[in-house]
Amino acid sequence: MEKIYMIPVNDAYNESCGCPVCRLRDKAENNYLEYYLGPSLMEPDTRKITNKTGFCPVHMGKLNQAVTNRLGLGLVMHTHLKDFHEELDPKLKASIPAKAGLLKGRNSDYKQKLNSVADLIEKRINTCPICDNLNEAMGHYIEVICWMFSHDQDFKGKFLNSEFHCLPHTAMLLRQAAKLSQNEASDFVDALYNNNAKTFEALISDVEYFTLKFDYRNTDKPWGTSKDSIQRSMRFLSSDGRDFDVQQSKKQS
Ligand SMILES: [Zn+2]
Ligand SMILES: [Zn+2]
Repeated sequence: MEKIYMIPVNDAYNESCGCPVCRLRDKAENNYLEYYLGPSLMEPDTRKITNKTGFCPVHMGKLNQAVTNRLGLGLVMHTHLKDFHEELDPKLKASIPAKAGLLKGRNSDYKQKLNSVADLIEKRINTCPICDNLNEAMGHYIEVICWMFSHDQDFKGKFLNSEFHCLPHTAMLLRQAAKLSQNEASDFVDALYNNNAKTFEALISDVEYFTLKFDYRNTDKPWGTSKDSIQRSMRFLSSDGRDFDVQQSKKQS
């Protein structure tokens, strides 16, 4: 098993609150964001890739927020725009349908042309080297987590103590567990189930309490743990740790 993936996995499970796989993902994502805003920007090989791919909408937003290297971001954006324009412009122009006149008649060819230009745009705006790198790293991490659970008692203890795994990461771990032997899978999924069930039930009851707080008879009751339960539920369902949910829960108070 590859050591380079074991260290971050161990680190992520050293903390017991929240989903450890989300922590791994966030850390890896930040490393890639820094990489693409760092000296790699000036490397011709990286630029060849980013000229073609640009970044997906989510990562463009995150690069924009990381204000460390505005010039670098500008340079990458400039050459990516040029590359995109060079490919798209002639195809978009050629897709303008000719007017159907009395002599020329109708031609349904234009529909297919318009759809294929739309396909090209959608394909290009969704390609992203950060997503590709992240997906690859997450595949290794998930594999390492399952392996360490069966081979490293110390790690198994940390896994059992983790608060929960969010649902998207539970799904990834289940797929990996399907590759284990039946006995190994039995122990692993039992542990996964146990640390998930508590959180699931607690969220249901917290969100219910949250809704009951809107009844005027409950106005003076304390919020307890329900105040940020909507945001915690969103994170549990989506594995997304966006900052806006902190802002949103502040607004409620
Ligand atoms: Zn997660
Ligand atoms: Zn991306």
